[in-house]
Amino acid sequence: MAAIESYVGQTVNGLKVLKLLPRNASGDFKYWLRCPCKEEFSGGVYNVINGNTKSCGCGAGRKSRYERMPDDKLIAAYTENESERVKITAALVARRLQLPELKNAERIL
Ligand SMILES: [Zn+2]
Repeated sequence: MAAIESYVGQTVNGLKVLKLLPRNASGDFKYWLRCPCKEEFSGGVYNVINGNTKSCGCGAGRKSRYERMPDDKLIAAYTENESERVKITAALVARRLQLPELKNAERIL
């Protein structure tokens, strides 16, 4: 509970988490969210945190910020940002960039 509340006020995968909605009849937790397109909508907490929900349905956020980064910045991000490494690796692999330190990438994915 505390963990999911900690996302309120933060931006997760491009979505601004405005509030945690009261538990619905089926017992699911949902957030009230603001999409990058400014539309507000509700989304299941776990889908938001996992990155399955990235927009209100308008298609915003289809590409991660790593997918939009130039190659050199992406490579720098890989070495600097360990917590985001899975996403960065996905972006690198999508571009077929070959890096010595990516030898383990296939195991991560
Ligand atoms: Zn939207």
